[in-house]
Amino acid sequence: MSDQKDFQPSTLVIHSNRVYESQSNSILFPIHQTATYIHESVGVTKGYGYSRGANPTVNALEQAIAAVEGTTTALCFRSGMAAITTLCMGLLKAGDHVVLSDVIYGGTSRLFHQVIGNFGIEYSSVDTSNLEEVEQAIRPNTRLMFVETPANPNLRLSDVKALAEIAHSHENLLLAVDNTFLTPLLQNCLNLGADISMLSTTKYIDGHNATIGGSLATHNEAIIERLRLVRKTIGTIQAPMDSWLALQGIKTLPARLALHCSNATQIANWLEKQPQVEHVYYPGLDSFPQKALAEKQQKGFGGMLAFELHASTEDTLNFINALKLATCAESLGSVETLITHPATASHCDLTPEVRAKLGISDRLIRLSVGLEAPQDLIADFEQAFAAVFGAKA
Ligand SMILES: *Cc1c(COP(=O)(O)O)cnc(C)c1O
Repeated sequence: MSDQKDFQPSTLVIHSNRVYESQSNSILFPIHQTATYIHESVGVTKGYGYSRGANPTVNALEQAIAAVEGTTTALCFRSGMAAITTLCMGLLKAGDHVVLSDVIYGGTSRLFHQVIGNFGIEYSSVDTSNLEEVEQAIRPNTRLMFVETPANPNLRLSDVKALAEIAHSHENLLLAVDNTFLTPLLQNCLNLGADISMLSTTKYIDGHNATIGGSLATHNEAIIERLRLVRKTIGTIQAPMDSWLALQGIKTLPARLALHCSNATQIANWLEKQPQVEHVYYPGLDSFPQKALAEKQQKGFGGMLAFELHASTEDTLNFINALKLATCAESLGSVETLITHPATASHCDLTPEVRAKLGISDRLIRLSVGLEAPQDLIADFEQAFAAVFGAKA
């Protein structure tokens, strides 16, 4: 379509990749499940040579993601971690230094602590919600700030615009933001000044727990070309079938996000009033210390929250086990409400001391609020409270 630029994101995610498929006019973009492409004569192709480099179905998802990111190009990867790994291999070399959010997805911290660090890349784990601490951590060889906001699992926020200003006041220092928890529709990191926006498309973009995938987007064409070369070389591109499934998911992203936000708000407000609940962490609550920052840089408060009960760690686990509708499973951002215990799941690689320092207590519960009716989820919490707290409640 020629006048795409005028459309809103909710229109673009549905129509940005419409093509007239010549054999049948199928309304869905086809799955190009192919490893290679025919040369009409030696060296003459339609732009596709081999699916480790590029694939039309992957490209269709990339266009849809670029549309929600508000840029022209995005790249899709085998997983969110493959996206971060490709980013590091593309932009960093031995001797470079990275400033990393200290509260961060467990896989990202493992990547730096156990893999990237072995290649001579230095890093500092920093409280990126504290701008002074960030300034102090920057060294002459710092080339990348990798920030997660809201952070997994305690929803701590970092000010993207302020961090971009700090990064850009130094030479050759790029800001990348892991925007998985909100997606660009609720927080446009590129507009806020970040150089690179990273998503685990496994979460809200797919939205249905059907695929594992990741994406990177930037306004900087030189970075895109570098990442494209590294992706082609190390083979981290997404598989066509996964892109096709995520393409179906992204069509309902705007509608799903609106419902995730309103359901999470209802659940957070309800939880906060329950006598069994000690604390709720949700950026939309008045009790959330960084609510003003959320209102400034986000267009919604998202579907993720965390809470602690007035209970021992053992009873916290008993509560999770007593739930029947909210499902204990890793991952987030899907239509199903998923509940996890970060200390034994996503953040189990950190020592108890480090977890305590970062505000990830052994009693912290992470909740990804899905699209079920909130009253059914509340009824589920009520029966689990009764099962654990019994007459005490
Ligand atoms: C899941 C997740 C990742 C990793 O993505 P995968 O698709 O699982 O590889 C990175 N960051 C955040 C915030 C995540 O939730």
